[in-house]
Amino acid sequence: MRLAFDLDGTVADMQSALAREARRLFPGIDPAFLPRSTAPGTGPDAADSPPAEESRLSIGHLSSRQQRELWKTVCDQENWWETLAEIEPGSLARLYRLVQDRKWELMFVTSRPETRGETAQTQSYRWLAAQGYETPSVFVVHGSRGKIAAALALDILVDDRPENCLDVALDSTARAILVWRGEEAKIPASARQLGIGSVATIAECLDILESLDRHEAEEPGMLDRLKRLLGLKSPGPRTSNRGVASAASPAAPTTR
Ligand SMILES: [Mg+2]
Repeated sequence: MRLAFDLDGTVADMQSALAREARRLFPGIDPAFLPRSTAPGTGPDAADSPPAEESRLSIGHLSSRQQRELWKTVCDQENWWETLAEIEPGSLARLYRLVQDRKWELMFVTSRPETRGETAQTQSYRWLAAQGYETPSVFVVHGSRGKIAAALALDILVDDRPENCLDVALDSTARAILVWRGEEAKIPASARQLGIGSVATIAECLDILESLDRHEAEEPGMLDRLKRLLGLKSPGPRTSNRGVASAASPAAPTTR
């Protein structure tokens, strides 16, 4: 199985680190405006340039000027990407054990902007090495995750941004798994329509991948099985609500 995981918002807690910087930069700011590690639809790729519309506001509810200032401060710091914490402590270690035990091929994809110090790729590599990964594969890429998934011949891509998952569904034969830590009802309807399954945690995602792999030998048809595990066909016990809950929700926002 060839897998790719996104970094920020999926396994790496960029939002908390940004919130720390924002509190330092703007001491009087309302805490409700700060980035949250659970916020979907966020990422440095969206924040590189001023947002084109409200839905692209990517860092809490900071103004465009504040976002630019925040990113400038971050990018001026040496090896800032290495300072991030893991969102779910222990999940990367578990993923690594699974990759080793089951001989999966794993890569990480990210759209991180460069900061002072080492390249974003080297920082990401070293961050993963510090989590126990011996020879992590990291691709710093901008542009459609779907084309990337196709070029890398991925089976599965795990990402916290619905738009990236949509790209994968539209531009590749890979299956996207959306990591959505927010309210289930706010999952974009378009994700449902394209058959993108969601999980609330990496732990849940790994349970599904493990189950998928364990049963592959006795029940071929990995993608069908994955769809079922994600609740996209007949709801399974773990994902019974997630596959159907927002089918009737209105056009959903990509950020909160
Ligand atoms: Mg992300």
